[in-house]
Amino acid sequence: MEAADSVEQPGHSKVGTLSISARAEIEGNLRRVHDQFLGNREGKVADYIPELAKVPPDQFGLAIALTTGEVIAVGDVDSRFTIQSTSKALTLALLLDTVGHQETLRVVGTQPSGDPFNAITLDPSTNRPFNPMVNAGAIAVSGRLLEALGPSAFDQILEHFSRAAGRELTVDENVFESERVTGHRNRAIGHLLRAAGVFDLPVDDVLDVYFRQCSILVTVTDLAVMGATLANIGVNPATRRAVFGVDAVRDTISIMFTCGMYDGAGDWACKVGVPAKSGVGGGIMAVLNRQLGIGVFSPRLDIAGNSVRGKLVCRSLADELGLHTFDWTNMGSSFLKALGVG
Ligand code: GLN
Repeated sequence: MEAADSVEQPGHSKVGTLSISARAEIEGNLRRVHDQFLGNREGKVADYIPELAKVPPDQFGLAIALTTGEVIAVGDVDSRFTIQSTSKALTLALLLDTVGHQETLRVVGTQPSGDPFNAITLDPSTNRPFNPMVNAGAIAVSGRLLEALGPSAFDQILEHFSRAAGRELTVDENVFESERVTGHRNRAIGHLLRAAGVFDLPVDDVLDVYFRQCSILVTVTDLAVMGATLANIGVNPATRRAVFGVDAVRDTISIMFTCGMYDGAGDWACKVGVPAKSGVGGGIMAVLNRQLGIGVFSPRLDIAGNSVRGKLVCRSLADELGLHTFDWTNMGSSFLKALGVG
């Protein structure tokens, strides 16, 4: 189902007003986990391009956006960083809306790969990328979007990301240029995809879209609101604008759950239990279905390319607030109700 412009979809949450005490309680939770991990200096900033190596490593912010439209953020809430691979979840949703489930699955699979995100490989049983959350799959998605939408593909991506965040987003042209100039691995993946018949377009045109989508600038609040838009069945809870269709959202969140944290995805599913997507810019976007989105930003990464403090924060929050999908208390699914706004 395609998400129509400004049309509300059935079943998404109403904008509620969080009581002052409920708001203070969530803010207290965020501050506690922020302070708990503030001193953690583990991991290292992505340095595959000079632009990312320059990012001040100590920045640290986190935000929760409820599907009622409220946002609570602490730490470096105004720091802007490139969205990088977190974009993969949103371009997947856009492709699902644009060409449908069947056609999307023709170009990319849904299986975790167990390989690093930038592996130059396809699933040998299908000759397609394993899933849309690794580079090969995301480049296949960008290629199919370019085929379907033509030269306006990137503008439409930016427009959808902006709607999901509820504000006009922009591209970091320096990061884009660096990605473009140094992206030989991704170019190799692009040629592999073209040789496998995944798309029939000039590889550089496809990579232009992919590198641009990775270079979109966001804040933790943007990531939280984007996550809340997915949690709210594709409708931005603050602006009430439809961004993605319900079927696209279901597929997207499912694939985030199994593949969103690269080769750390299984560990994440057990320990955190909330669908999420990370990016090498240091951001993580997590989605608690029908309840909330979480955004975290901390640029130091672990070996898999996930933010070290981002992972710790999500795990701690999931524990503290009972958000794990399979937590025996099942508190996550009635989070808003417990706050009196659901
Ligand atoms: N731009 C990066 C790349 O394509 C994004 C990777 C990531 O965030 N994991 O390699």
